[in-house]
Amino acid sequence: MTHVTAVLRTDEPPLMHQAVEEAVRLLKEGEVVALPTETVYGLAANALDPAAVTKIFEAKERPTFDPLIVHLPHKNQLDLVADVPADIAQTVKQLTERFWPGPLTLLLPKKAVVPDIVTAGLPTVAVRVSSNAVFRKVISAFDQPLAAPSANRFGSISPTSAGAVLSELDGRIHLIVDSGASLYGLESTIIKIEPGPPKPVITIIRPGPVTPDDLKAYGKVKVAIRSVIDGPAESPGQLASHYAPRTPLRLLEQPSDFIPEPGKRYALMSYRGEEQDGYLHLTDWEEVMMLSPGKGKLPEAAVRFFHILRRLDELGVDEIIAEPLHEHGMGIAMMDKLRRASVRHAP
Ligand code: AMP
Ligand code: MG
Repeated sequence: MTHVTAVLRTDEPPLMHQAVEEAVRLLKEGEVVALPTETVYGLAANALDPAAVTKIFEAKERPTFDPLIVHLPHKNQLDLVADVPADIAQTVKQLTERFWPGPLTLLLPKKAVVPDIVTAGLPTVAVRVSSNAVFRKVISAFDQPLAAPSANRFGSISPTSAGAVLSELDGRIHLIVDSGASLYGLESTIIKIEPGPPKPVITIIRPGPVTPDDLKAYGKVKVAIRSVIDGPAESPGQLASHYAPRTPLRLLEQPSDFIPEPGKRYALMSYRGEEQDGYLHLTDWEEVMMLSPGKGKLPEAAVRFFHILRRLDELGVDEIIAEPLHEHGMGIAMMDKLRRASVRHAP
């Protein structure tokens, strides 16, 4: 399947109009289209058409046991794809009112209309509403739910720009709609909800931009990120090796954990790039890139996270060394991704 991959910009009204029209035309033909969202770029197809969804798996080389997130045109359409159990309906209502459109994905019992290929045969569907203006224009005009996982090859680094999608999927898809850098830069937070008493329990299955602190007003929040060494994942975005550069990556706990080997070339993914953190002098780095050159701000680091990982991967060094980040707020998601990126599959 070799295609010419067009990249259409949206930064002026006529361009936006053309890009949206072309995206909708392709989606109606049962094709896949890479679209911007506020989290990372997604690879979208008609969620209710198994043949179209199959093309997502093919373009990404994604195994069919890894289910997709379903995006709705509007938050009042949840009933199209999910059966909301009565005992959590109130919590679901509160959460969707507060966080949709936005980077929060809910796991709910699926309706029969959702094809099994979308949910990998699971009885639940992962569903959200994107806040990206371009995505919203496309999905409103298409007027059907879209399945849209991240627009990268399976297991690879998520794309936060149209250029990153191109380097992942060039020749595999017809169209990338470009709306600049992703607002958050990290995939959506995925939660499941169980009824109380006393309080509803909100379990974070995949950490992301919506943090435990953001959710605590709505129930008892648990974080159930499977450890990297655990067995089969409940949520396959949690496979051990994931978000991985081709270059081996090592996440340090402290500076003294790193002893450079002579003749090897290393790059540093630094948090603030401050010598007082003790990482800058450890070796003669090929390159140092800072996640948060400002003051150690986690949202700033999140926006730059996948972009920097991709840039460091392109250097061709022997190893990428990553400094740890604060493990709270959006730092939970980044530390989780760094741990997964540092797991290598056996050759
Ligand atoms: P991606 O959009 O590429 O980040 O992938 C979507 C992720 O959502 C999957 O890898 C799973 O982790 C998660 N997911 C989607 N549907 C389900 C489901 N029904 N149950 C559990 N996790 C799901
Ligand atoms: Mg992904």
